[in-house]
Amino acid sequence: MRINNAAMRPCFDLSAARMAVIDDMPRFFLNKVAVIGVGLIGGSLALALKRKGLAGTIVGIGRGTENLADAKRLGVVDSTTLDVAEGVRDADLVFVAVPVLKIGETIKKALPSLKQGCVVTDAGSVKKAIIDEVEPIMPAGVHFVGGHPIAGTENSGARYAFPELYVGRRCILTPTPDTDEKALGLVRSVWEEAGASVVIMEASAHDRVLAAVSHLPHMIAYSLVNTVADVEDAGADALGYSAGGFKDFTRIASSSPEMWSDICAMNRDAIIEMIDSFQRRLDRLKGLIKDRDLKGLKEDFDRAKRVRDSLLKKNVK
Ligand code: NAD
Repeated sequence: MRINNAAMRPCFDLSAARMAVIDDMPRFFLNKVAVIGVGLIGGSLALALKRKGLAGTIVGIGRGTENLADAKRLGVVDSTTLDVAEGVRDADLVFVAVPVLKIGETIKKALPSLKQGCVVTDAGSVKKAIIDEVEPIMPAGVHFVGGHPIAGTENSGARYAFPELYVGRRCILTPTPDTDEKALGLVRSVWEEAGASVVIMEASAHDRVLAAVSHLPHMIAYSLVNTVADVEDAGADALGYSAGGFKDFTRIASSSPEMWSDICAMNRDAIIEMIDSFQRRLDRLKGLIKDRDLKGLKEDFDRAKRVRDSLLKKNVK
């Protein structure tokens, strides 16, 4: 692995890290990258690295031959294997993009084969539980950096991967006081080369914020679709009358059930806290409707509209 020292300044100092972006010169070259879980997220990072010529070879590691065959055929990775230990051997960077509940056990399988200096990072949508599991077992000279790209679609699998997925998106990295600074610098550079802007955040803060803006909306979308499904089961053709609003609102209910049940298991407390908070909001709304309080309803809707409109002004993708 060749690393340009300019990019390896201590990255807790964000201004120094920004100054490290001097020109368009690639800041690193990785002889071998291993992507464990070549789905939307893993596959898209592999494609971004390939497009920029930043990796010598990329091996895709998975649990199913069909998806791996897609990944090879579509040029997402150069070679594939079902064997984690074999796939990560000699890798400079290991990117773990399997469902969150599997990230810890997958890294444990990889550990005996990782070379000195190897950097392991992940894409898990939950951070504290993963870091608590993985950080204490990292061997000396092998480094873990927790990460979470704020990008995605409702589609799963290598065939949906595309290299621009991370362009203009944020990627949250969650270093701890034990995180190796050079490893953090490399992971930061990888995401920046993929087009993302990197934000550093403490893991528990990440989990609370994501519970509010990502995990809660998924819970609501799943519940909303099931509510309408109950109406259908009771004999009414409700879905037949759904229009753009229902489709826009519920797009994320098509997300992978496996991924989202895992996220609930791993970010349980923060998700429950956000559901409680949402229930209080719904109860308030119900009260206003019961009381025919049109002024109160309008105030609530005005506030929500102002906040939602401000997202567009902030250009949040
Ligand atoms: P995906 O289903 O498209 O890909 C996951 C891949 O991992 C699949 O190919 C699956 O076969 C493979 N896999 C599952 N278990 C495995 C195992 N034990 N060993 C090896 N391979 C295994 O899912 P994705 O959307 O790419 O998500 C991957 C990770 O990225 C998850 O941890 C998720 O939390 C995180 N993430 C997802 C999104 C999103 O919006 N999709 C956004 C940010 C982060």
